[in-house]
Amino acid sequence: MAILEEPIKEQLHLKNYIDGEWVESEGERKDVVNPANGKTIATVPISTEDEINEAVEAAKDAYHDWRRTPPLARVRCLFRLKELLEEHFEEVSRIQTMEHGKTIDESRGETRRGIEMVEVATGIPSLMMGYNLEDIATGIDEYLIRQPLGVFGIIAPFNFPFMVPLWFAPFAVATGNCIVLKPSSEDPISQVKILELAEEAGIPPGVWNIVHGGRTVVSGMLDHPDIKGVCFVGSTPVGRDVIYKRCGETGKRVIAMCGAKNFALVMPDANLDRTIAACMTSFYGNTGQRCLANANLVVVGEGLSEQEYDAFYKKVVDAFVAAAKKIRMGYGLDDTVHMGPIRDKKKKQNVLNYIEKGIAAGATLTLDGRQFEIVGDLPDTCFIGPTVFEDVTLDMAIARDEIFGPVANMMRARNLAEAIDMIHDVPFGNAASLFTQNGKWAREFQYNVQCGNIGINTGIAAPMAFFPFSGMKDSFFGTLHGQGREAIRFFTESKVVIQRWF
Ligand code: NAD
Repeated sequence: MAILEEPIKEQLHLKNYIDGEWVESEGERKDVVNPANGKTIATVPISTEDEINEAVEAAKDAYHDWRRTPPLARVRCLFRLKELLEEHFEEVSRIQTMEHGKTIDESRGETRRGIEMVEVATGIPSLMMGYNLEDIATGIDEYLIRQPLGVFGIIAPFNFPFMVPLWFAPFAVATGNCIVLKPSSEDPISQVKILELAEEAGIPPGVWNIVHGGRTVVSGMLDHPDIKGVCFVGSTPVGRDVIYKRCGETGKRVIAMCGAKNFALVMPDANLDRTIAACMTSFYGNTGQRCLANANLVVVGEGLSEQEYDAFYKKVVDAFVAAAKKIRMGYGLDDTVHMGPIRDKKKKQNVLNYIEKGIAAGATLTLDGRQFEIVGDLPDTCFIGPTVFEDVTLDMAIARDEIFGPVANMMRARNLAEAIDMIHDVPFGNAASLFTQNGKWAREFQYNVQCGNIGINTGIAAPMAFFPFSGMKDSFFGTLHGQGREAIRFFTESKVVIQRWF
């Protein structure tokens, strides 16, 4: 066991970044704790209403010049930022592991995905182009131009502290908008690092601001008349009842990407080795704290006799449990570890409560994550091992609610249609996976399932930066999604010009 060198050696005192300056907040301070060893690695301010207002003012002022900066000049800053992120790739990855708890491999994957957003946004000079038609009537031409809107707010969750704000920030800035970003106060350090690099990359003061904090900052954004739109990623109650509702009332554009309860369906012809390997990263990757994580595994008995189906179910579950037992848990900076801790004690308690609920509802606890070993000498405050429930039915809370931890439910469906109905029975529609070698089943699945991100023989249906990150039902509130061309439409207004000359 070798722990990689920690990039954070002394406790950091985080500040807001407003108008190109790192400024002290008047607000109270909160500890940022490394969940693997319980050490406080930073303190972060819970900023005040005046501070969010100040940041919006700075962004509004900066907008005047930034929108007039040619797109090619704007993206030169992003090219430079991409280079700097590559240079600091390992450092920012290790920071994520320290602030969040995920393994170093997971952090490196997150860094790569985040950098890809910057890469795609550098294509703005082409991607932002409008279109035209000559002679819509004799001698009259019509064309569409896309223009930025002003200031956008970005509100981020804890589970991908580096990547999620980058689903929006590079697209917003490249299209000529200015932003005020509120990272999760639970793990805000990697966003601070990005801003240090953005400053070095030449992003002008006021264009990309950070205001740390919680509800006060969010309310300040939602109520501010100069914020034109809000991008939120987080839980459904906050996304739907606070963000989407308030943006409707105040007439702001909104992308609210929310919670999930995703299903993986395993068909009788699936390649079992590959399916189980994909399921391990899907169900237990990021310690289950992923909006694309699968949580319910349905073994589908399409075309099998009762006897064959029982045998197939047993084979899948035995293989799943055997693989889950091999997962090594510990500090994510130990690169032999497969799974890190849950982000904090409160979240761990929430997962433990769900395990109790599952038992009380009559599910069978086949693998008990409450009994685990940790690699290395660490306090066990935030750890919880891979958990497997069987005999789970759709009326149980463990099957319907987002647990956001390493808990897998084994379920059964006699055929594909029944399994798809099960997916539709839960209120969420973020992602769903099918494991099969049958193209007809795959098409039927893709055609019918009411989920925004579909995986065929993949466990984590994460769209690349040049595709929208979709989501349906209680997993998404809004119209246009983050990433790719939809983000460009979200961050721009379409103006149509009809022109004739006498
Ligand atoms: P959360 O809803 O608790 O917090 C998200 C953000 O909102 C944070 O910045 C937080 O400070 C702020 N916030 C929290 N409560 C608030 C309130 N009452 N009023 C105003 N602001 C508030 O979510 P989280 O626990 O940080 O993140 C996990 C959730 O995010 C999960 O539900 C997960 O599925 C979801 N998520 C969704 C996607 C997606 O693409 N759909 C991606 C990542 C995470």
